[in-house]
Amino acid sequence: MTTRHPAFRQYAPFGPHQNVNMGKNVHKARDLLNHTVIAFHTRSDRDLSEVQIEARDKFVVMFKKQKQAYGGQVKLDASMKKVMDQRLNDVKAFFTFLDEFFFFGQLGSHVELNVGIDCVGKDPMGFDDRIEGETYPAKKRDEESTIIKLNIGSKGKLCTLDVIIGQLMHEMVHAYFQVFACDCAQCNKNVLNTVGIKNDAHGPLFLILHRLILTEMRTWGGRSSGLNSLLAKDCPRDFISKSAKSRATKAMQSLDPHKKAELYGYGQYVTSRTLLGLNADGDRVRVKDGLVEAQIKLEDALWIREERGRRFDDTEYYQSDSEWEEESITTDNSFETNHENEDLMERVRGKAKSV
Ligand SMILES: [Zn+2]
Ligand SMILES: [Zn+2]
Repeated sequence: MTTRHPAFRQYAPFGPHQNVNMGKNVHKARDLLNHTVIAFHTRSDRDLSEVQIEARDKFVVMFKKQKQAYGGQVKLDASMKKVMDQRLNDVKAFFTFLDEFFFFGQLGSHVELNVGIDCVGKDPMGFDDRIEGETYPAKKRDEESTIIKLNIGSKGKLCTLDVIIGQLMHEMVHAYFQVFACDCAQCNKNVLNTVGIKNDAHGPLFLILHRLILTEMRTWGGRSSGLNSLLAKDCPRDFISKSAKSRATKAMQSLDPHKKAELYGYGQYVTSRTLLGLNADGDRVRVKDGLVEAQIKLEDALWIREERGRRFDDTEYYQSDSEWEEESITTDNSFETNHENEDLMERVRGKAKSV
């Protein structure tokens, strides 16, 4: 029996096209990966949505402002609860900004955040001496939700803010796949090539998305923001997360041979046509040339078509359906802009040039 997986509608960072509606555990993991990456990877401000730009700018302002409130001792007295509540509110705000920038604001209604000092620690897989965060499904009054549990400090001392943000982002990537990735028999057979083994969940698609989000975040706020060295130890230069990769490898090695025999092998069905993958050494992300460019061309075509439509509406110009057909968007790369079109796009899509 094969399961039908819903396809996403054409995304664009304007109008109704930016409203993405994801279903719980119905999408192919690779579709989820591609859908988010095309919406942020190497985009300039002209091609981001207003919601994304606002979320990123607020994130940076808050990060710079709140940095000094972290890294120190927490007093173990009556003021402690208040401090912890404030820190939880910070983390919630950062979560929302990241959700809006990278995940179409879709995570918020599915995820519950839980932070504390040494609230996480024991590694359920036994791979590491200690873990700093975890993401797991939970049932509350028959409602299924996903919990992100995060250490914001240890032994009475708060972590620095960049450490917390790095861990939060890591858990949000887990949550994205945990909430929306399909878990039908067919998809489960392919976990070694997608989300990873159950209870580990650091499969190749996790590693790719985690790294591409990190690359984007390191560009935020300029050199002085401190974000340019986010997770520098675990992900130096353009390397994927060493710790996550190491856990995935250990999980694969400790997999029961009978269980392993039921799964598609690692690397099977990954072809040169795959748009996003890992390099041959498995330590860096490979993005196929033109992935984002092709997407932006489609968006520009969509923009021009709709902008023209609006102009015609203004003058009550009547255009028949058959005329529209001729202008319909093609999915190949043959679309080219002319000067009038460029003007149009600069005028309206080039809104955030002043950064
Ligand atoms: Zn499926
Ligand atoms: Zn993890």
